[in-house]
Amino acid sequence: HAKHEGKAQYHFFAPSLDQAERARIRLERDLRDAIKGVGFELNFQPLYSLEKRRLTGFEALIRWNHPVRGPISPLEFIPLAEESGLIIPIGEWVLREACHQASTWPADVSVAVNVSPKQFTATGIANTVLSALSASGLPAHRLELEITESIFTADVDQTLATLHSLRTLGVKIVLDDFGTGYSSLSYLRSFPFDKVKIDKSFVEDLGTSGNGHAVIRAITMLAAALGMETLAEGVEDVTQFEVLEREGCQNIQGYLFSRPVAADAVTGLLRDGAGYQRQLRA
Ligand code: C2E
Ligand code: MG
Ligand code: MG
Ligand code: MG
Repeated sequence: HAKHEGKAQYHFFAPSLDQAERARIRLERDLRDAIKGVGFELNFQPLYSLEKRRLTGFEALIRWNHPVRGPISPLEFIPLAEESGLIIPIGEWVLREACHQASTWPADVSVAVNVSPKQFTATGIANTVLSALSASGLPAHRLELEITESIFTADVDQTLATLHSLRTLGVKIVLDDFGTGYSSLSYLRSFPFDKVKIDKSFVEDLGTSGNGHAVIRAITMLAAALGMETLAEGVEDVTQFEVLEREGCQNIQGYLFSRPVAADAVTGLLRDGAGYQRQLRA
């Protein structure tokens, strides 16, 4: 009898479902639960303008504290949310929550929200953005949408139409992780982005290899020629910071100034002048 049961069980767990696949299915189920109970949280990381010499905004970054595993990196669960389509409700929550938080900040502080490719190509993204803005009362010009080059691997005409419809709402469009894609230069030419975020892999190169600063200079010059601002992400030390400043990068973000913080720590950061201003005064 026992032998029989064992066999039945073996068939129940289809032999093709290996360990990794089962783990993925479990995680997807837990993601669904998190959406239902809003098990997510947003952290906010300051963005600084070198020209204005002040904090100008925050990037909203999702956090998931898994009930059993503890904190799970978005680098692990966002791809899964993309594959399963769960990114649509998750992304909608992120937009609403980010706009809601930002509506409590001073009028010259904006919020940047990551929009993943699946979310971007889903019908109604412009409506989702519009509804998050009107529910929160946040003016459109204080919302920045960060998209990556990978949106261009889909239907390019449709991609451009969506970018223009979002731009029409008055929000800013930012190209995230610039330089990591397959054909970065051609994407830069195809749409007038408000800002280009230089991927942190290029910032890491500064100080190590000899020509890292030449790459930064080339990107900032190109962006300037196209009427776009630049922001360098992942700035961790003073050497990187000084090279970026010298090569004309206008905005910076990184652990050197502040890690991402919880929503209720934002007010304190604003009041104390946060890391960058402190560094300037020192
Ligand atoms: P990203 O949009 O490029 O965000 C920047 C990442 O760099 C964040 O990682 C941030 O914490 C990290 N970072 C900032 N400064 C430094 C630094 O000085 N050094 C280092 N080593 N890292 C730094 P995080 O929060 O783990 O997010 C990883 C990625 O997950 C994001 O990359 C973004 O692609 C995605 N992600 C995060 N939140 C969301 C979200 O709400 N929606 C979507 N669709 N994707 C998100
Ligand atoms: Mg980003
Ligand atoms: Mg980025
Ligand atoms: Mg990045």
